[in-house]
Amino acid sequence: RGPDLFGARCNSRGWDLTDRSDLAEIEAARAPHHETQFEARPILAGPVATGTPEALRNPATGAPVGDVLPASPADLETALSAARIWDASPRDRAEVLRRAADLYEAEFGPIFAILAREAGKTLPDAVGELREAVDFLRYYAAEGETLTAAPQGIFTCISPWNFPLAIFTGQVAAALMAGNAVLAKPAEQTPLIAHLAVTLLHRAGVPMTALQFLPGAGAVVGAALTSDPRVAGVCFTGSTATALTIRRAMAQHLSPSAPLIAETGGLNAMLVDSTALPEQAVRDILASAFQSAGQRCSALRCLYLQEDISGTVQDMLFGAMEDLALGDPWDLATDTGPVIDARAQAQIAEYIAAARAQGRVMKELRASQAGHFIAPTVIRVKGIADLQREVFGPVLHLATFPAGGVTAVIDAVNRTGYGLTFGLHTRIDDRVQKVVDRIHTGNTYVNRNQIGAVVGSQPFGGEGLSGTGPKAGGPHYLHRFTKAPAPDLPA
Ligand code: GLU
Repeated sequence: RGPDLFGARCNSRGWDLTDRSDLAEIEAARAPHHETQFEARPILAGPVATGTPEALRNPATGAPVGDVLPASPADLETALSAARIWDASPRDRAEVLRRAADLYEAEFGPIFAILAREAGKTLPDAVGELREAVDFLRYYAAEGETLTAAPQGIFTCISPWNFPLAIFTGQVAAALMAGNAVLAKPAEQTPLIAHLAVTLLHRAGVPMTALQFLPGAGAVVGAALTSDPRVAGVCFTGSTATALTIRRAMAQHLSPSAPLIAETGGLNAMLVDSTALPEQAVRDILASAFQSAGQRCSALRCLYLQEDISGTVQDMLFGAMEDLALGDPWDLATDTGPVIDARAQAQIAEYIAAARAQGRVMKELRASQAGHFIAPTVIRVKGIADLQREVFGPVLHLATFPAGGVTAVIDAVNRTGYGLTFGLHTRIDDRVQKVVDRIHTGNTYVNRNQIGAVVGSQPFGGEGLSGTGPKAGGPHYLHRFTKAPAPDLPA
């Protein structure tokens, strides 16, 4: 890599949240946006049809945040017929994306405010998210500057609510950097931050015909944009079930060569053996399972403790959980914010209630707040095979394994068919290599937490039911958005 990639302009600047002056700067910049009512509207290279906006509410407080006008069938047609590939040199496109990265960094006040109020992001999560978005812009600019392959054409990008800025931006930046015309559909829950992102990308110089914004329901907008024969490829992050629906729609209506780049769910485990440092393991378990209220596809779902140390680690973990502050993510004291909406809250609560009825809830905090809160919870299981599905919230399952049982644990994790992240805590070097060789996960983390992959140094993506690859924030990603296969990948 040249200095351009890892030099001063890549990765992003960030803030030190333990530094009073950094905190004061953030507070002053986001304060004016505490009550602002934001708007998300289709952004098209043509007229937008009229319609009735729908209200959006803060998942922690229920307070109004603004409203969204979903794209109408006429808007979809306008976007599809106006879309044009971005006809600038790769160097010029890179310059525009870098300018957008600078604009994102400059607009941190409204960005942090919307991330807290629309998506329930705590300040550390919001900072991480903005930095990841900026990193994606600069990384793909650097990676794509020398691209010679032709774009696919019109690319549909469908992004999730859990990283409504970072993943939204990463998909769009990659598709644009490869020269495609992008139709961007944000998650239904989080159109406001995506609307701001598109505004900044346009302000940086992305042509309107190369990037159009179509908020709305998956079943309407998403379905239309993955089954119109004018669409040349789809980039999607979300559930495995939705990825399969999209694949079926594409198979029926799109060219057989149309790529689907999908990042989907996970059933992620961590193994802590008897040589691990308990304090470090507990810190990393807490972050992996409960940061972002467990709403990351990388999050830890099933913790395996070696029997000899399970009592100690469990006591330390349950003690540390007592200190997790649940509350409004705007409040700097909050560790765990809300889950995204009433539906998610009801589904997770039902799941916990079923485990409680079976006497399997080992530890449960109390959620006294109104709003869509789920208190961090630990549920006993025999092993990962007991997890029927990905529970997308602050719910950790706990199992133990005997000395000599590491291979059996790895094999059980592989048998789930998912393969996103895996965490390993051990001080046995030889074990690290054996586990890494045997586990089928895209991202395996040793002696640290298993969330928060960093663009450029930890390309992120899964195997099996967890995604198609190539990994986001890695050197192969852009190639899938072009007509040529990656030079060092099989065609
Ligand atoms: N890249 C994120 C991480 O490493 C997870 C992405 C997702 O949840 O979709 O935490």
